[in-house]
Amino acid sequence: DDLLSKEEDTVFAKNMTDANAERTFIAVKPDGVQRGLVGEIIKRFEQRGYKLVAGKLMVAPKALLENHYKDLADKPFYSGLVTYMASGPVFAMVWEGKEVVKMGRKMLGATNPRESAPGTIRGDYCIDVGRNICHGSDAVETAQREIALWFKDDELCDYEFADKKWVYE
Ligand code: ADP
Repeated sequence: DDLLSKEEDTVFAKNMTDANAERTFIAVKPDGVQRGLVGEIIKRFEQRGYKLVAGKLMVAPKALLENHYKDLADKPFYSGLVTYMASGPVFAMVWEGKEVVKMGRKMLGATNPRESAPGTIRGDYCIDVGRNICHGSDAVETAQREIALWFKDDELCDYEFADKKWVYE
């Protein structure tokens, strides 16, 4: 491996263990799955350079969704939201990399797709806020809570990301 010197390699390895190991929870919602957008959403995170740590297709139990969205329990759209999210399989994922929580939100676009810029996932593929095809954690602490809620520890894959030296400086 001649891309980095030994000292650079040590510094690189340390950086990789902290800042570049941030994780976020991304889910393709039932409308995104039905509309054939799982591959497209995975593709965008893959091509950006993020590392896929976990992924599974599942019909989420209502109790899980009520917990996931508990901060919205007093909103008028809450019960419709839980019904929508339980209406079919979702593709749940964990992605890892530098500032992936913030960048994931940017890649998704605004909550309301009609306020999402073209080029974002919601800005390119949907129209209504109640059918906005994907979820992404809104903060690092939220991501930790959501990952623990949706995944068991042994579902998170620990492996070396082959591209890392070409993605990070
Ligand atoms: P985000 O998913 O962008 O973090 P929120 O946490 O505010 O947004 O809302 C969670 C989800 O609830 C949204 O993604 C959307 O599916 C749904 N939602 C939010 N606002 C509305 C609304 N006014 N009407 C219907 N559904 C909504």
